[in-house]
Amino acid sequence: MTLPGSPHIAYRDDDLFIEGCSVAELGQRFGTPLYVYSRASLLGALAAYQRALKGRDHLICYAMKANSTLAVLQTFAQAGCGFDIVSGGELERVLAAGIEASLVVFSGVGKTRAEMRRALEAGVMCFNVESEAELEVLSRVASELHKTARVSLRVNPDVDAGTHPYISTGLKGNKFGVAHERALACYQRAASLPGLQVVGIDCHIGSQITDTGPYLDALDRMLDLIEQVEAAGIPIHHLDLGGGLGITYTDETPPSAELLVKGLLARIDARGHGHRKIMFEPGRSLVGNGGVLVSEVLYLKPGAEKNFCIVDAAMNDLMRPAMYEAWMKIVACQLRPEAPTNFDVVGPICESGDWLGRDRPLAVQAGDFVAVLSAGAYSMSMASNYNTRGRAAEVMVSGDQAWLIRDREEAADLFRGEHLLPRR
Ligand SMILES: *Cc1c(COP(=O)(O)O)cnc(C)c1O
Repeated sequence: MTLPGSPHIAYRDDDLFIEGCSVAELGQRFGTPLYVYSRASLLGALAAYQRALKGRDHLICYAMKANSTLAVLQTFAQAGCGFDIVSGGELERVLAAGIEASLVVFSGVGKTRAEMRRALEAGVMCFNVESEAELEVLSRVASELHKTARVSLRVNPDVDAGTHPYISTGLKGNKFGVAHERALACYQRAASLPGLQVVGIDCHIGSQITDTGPYLDALDRMLDLIEQVEAAGIPIHHLDLGGGLGITYTDETPPSAELLVKGLLARIDARGHGHRKIMFEPGRSLVGNGGVLVSEVLYLKPGAEKNFCIVDAAMNDLMRPAMYEAWMKIVACQLRPEAPTNFDVVGPICESGDWLGRDRPLAVQAGDFVAVLSAGAYSMSMASNYNTRGRAAEVMVSGDQAWLIRDREEAADLFRGEHLLPRR
């Protein structure tokens, strides 16, 4: 049976392996629910971008909200990657992983003054500014610190990325970025404010995009803008085309990162912008296919209308199905000869929305392990403690080695920092 996603996650005979490690054995050894990542998968996904950009001034900034675990950041940093952050907390994670702030771009519509100060003191490469009001505040904060904030304006190119409304970000009605009609005026304002230095332009049109078309449309808009802004005497050093490339969860057929980037570079060159530093901010496409969520089957509960397979992972571990009705493939870690039954795979949480997959054919028994595939992105990083459930442990696999990269949370971790009222 071939599986969608990573070539490093496949069956050997009847056993699911992630690189050289049996997933069921990892489940036994580390307990479940358990996230497991393939290092070769993560690096392979990054290498696809790097191949296309070879020989150019470029930086790939991993959008770490997709998976912000320190060892994941470290893996990418060692391979020459930069980082796209969206909060002060993510900056602290980058620094805790031993990574230089000069490799960081700071995105997000709601940066606080405190976050700006910390980022300026740490020395981030660039702020991706999302509104005129933010420009004014950043100018003041930088001036107070006697620092210069390098800025890029995130422009909303008003293109339809053709993706789920919750993860589409480049349309007029979205909260993100500066309207492209306002961009020139914003650049003029930025150039006039103290404490700011214009260095680039960026956009990010959405997530899980499976077509090249919207990227090319956005690129053309961005190049038009660069020409206008530079004609007004404001040089734009880098062009950052954001992230958003989709992955295969089931039968999606996104372009490879290499093809997408090569296509964009061809257009950039054709329009005479080939000298520019090019940046991308991929998240999902770097980590999505490289991770699985391993869970133990607790109970099978046959019913008149539905059969339920109750597993020990839940919506607090993996929110994508409940939040976006995302479809993620679920497979048994050890194949049984019996014919499969259709199950709704659900967790223990007291919500009907707590499901990982519906109507999934599985041949499993209580005590078996199942794996949710392509769970490397927006999975662990969105996990919560709902129902006072500790977050899962995480393991990084490379070849036949497996390292625990995050401890499972214990109950005491969950109420640390809470306070009882004074006794009366
Ligand atoms: C989330 C995000 C990304 C990454 O999106 P993916 O779909 O995961 O590639 C890139 N840039 C910005 C500004 C983002 O908010």
